Amino acid sequence: MSSKARRIRNAPGELRVLLSRCDQPGPDGVQVSPGLLPYVDMVLGKNPDIFKLIKILNEQFFGGGVRGYTYVRSNRRKDCFSYTNFTTKIVYLQEFLFSAGLCRSVLVRKLLHEMIHAFLDTSGADRNENSEHGPIFKKEVTRINRLLGCDLMDDSDVSWDRLRVLNLDKLFICNKCGKKVFRVLSRPPGPDDFYPWYESHRERCGGAFILRLNGVV
Ligand SMILES: [Zn+2]
Ligand SMILES: [Zn+2]
Repeated sequence: MSSKARRIRNAPGELRVLLSRCDQPGPDGVQVSPGLLPYVDMVLGKNPDIFKLIKILNEQFFGGGVRGYTYVRSNRRKDCFSYTNFTTKIVYLQEFLFSAGLCRSVLVRKLLHEMIHAFLDTSGADRNENSEHGPIFKKEVTRINRLLGCDLMDDSDVSWDRLRVLNLDKLFICNKCGKKVFRVLSRPPGPDDFYPWYESHRERCGGAFILRLNGVV
């Protein structure tokens, strides 16, 4: 047992939070920021009403400014949690975000993450800077982090054990900009993978993707 898991077992308050906010109990080391809990509560269960949550998040954090986007649960791409297509105005949420055992705070964070992208695009922000998580994106993340008292970019609530079951446990991180990519394959992302961001990332950052996690927590 890791020291983190042991700490959670010894802290009844934290364990209770894990049991009620995750679909599957278990001291797997995940930690949920208290600011996210009211929103996590709205999307528990097998088929949560994400549209109700989206409406509330849009009103509370963007003044209703995320407009014209469609939200889709998808199984198409298995290399990221979620992504936003500015051209088709579709926000894709990967089906595994709804799987039992993966804490729903991940869903809430990823939803807010994509809504920031959509909000910025709706307000005419530079698409490259937006999709590359440049200063305008980071500024919005900081604004919402302050309101929620959490860190939207902190993946420590992700249960890596669960991702391993889904065979999606290879985490690559760019050694220059920190971009994260999850893959089934253990070779780094390359030009043949047809990632829409691959070329612009190569030009703008040029960093190398290093395997940081291979099913071992
Ligand atoms: Zn993003
Ligand atoms: Zn990079």
